[in-house]
Amino acid sequence: MSRQISSLLAIAAVCVTLAPAPAFAQAPKKTPVDCEQVKCIALTFDDGPGQYAGTLLDTLKKYHAKATFFLEGQYVKSRPAYVKRMAAEGHELGNHSYSHPDFTKSEAGTIRNEIKKTQDAVKKAAGVEPKLLRPPYGLADLQVSDIAAEFGMPMILWTAGSEDWSSKNVQAIQKKTLEVAKPNGIILMHDWVKQTVDGMPALIKTLQNKGYHLVTVSDIIKDENLEPGDVFPRPAGWEN
Ligand SMILES: [Zn+2]
Repeated sequence: MSRQISSLLAIAAVCVTLAPAPAFAQAPKKTPVDCEQVKCIALTFDDGPGQYAGTLLDTLKKYHAKATFFLEGQYVKSRPAYVKRMAAEGHELGNHSYSHPDFTKSEAGTIRNEIKKTQDAVKKAAGVEPKLLRPPYGLADLQVSDIAAEFGMPMILWTAGSEDWSSKNVQAIQKKTLEVAKPNGIILMHDWVKQTVDGMPALIKTLQNKGYHLVTVSDIIKDENLEPGDVFPRPAGWEN
């Protein structure tokens, strides 16, 4: 695997805090979706489980939609029941660090510890280990890539953001998401943003009416042949 780097991969995300519950879960049963044959999109929720994760899971279940949760270990620890439910209901669980530091400004030991503690917390809560890493803020460099590779994980960014953490407005979140939606898109959202969760039923209905199947990130990247440490989608200046 040859790689070069320009600087940082970019963009923004955010974080928040709160509450507990008990846990244990099983691997999801999946209805196979072929994203080469049908229109797919992956909604991804960062920094959680957020305080509205339960409502979001109810909505996803109602509309038979799958999502990917890039979990923050500290909240996996405080809200393990949501994590167990995510796995049991067929959603994908990814690693988004334990406490959301900028990995490009962190020591190697800190990065390893952040990833490992989150893997362990998810395993304890849901019985499965994440296979995908989304570095906090979508920021990575060669060191981060090498450490992701040690854990056997590619790094997953996003094709577009809903800007939910910034607008915190139901209509704005729906409008932005529909604007940037595209086949095999990976959309950044947050389940700690109440307005994202409030607007989700209508948003999912609209996406499904447009022919989208809401799938996991792994469904989308199935044919990308990503290796551990690779980045997807690949930012300008980065060669896996
Ligand atoms: Zn984040």
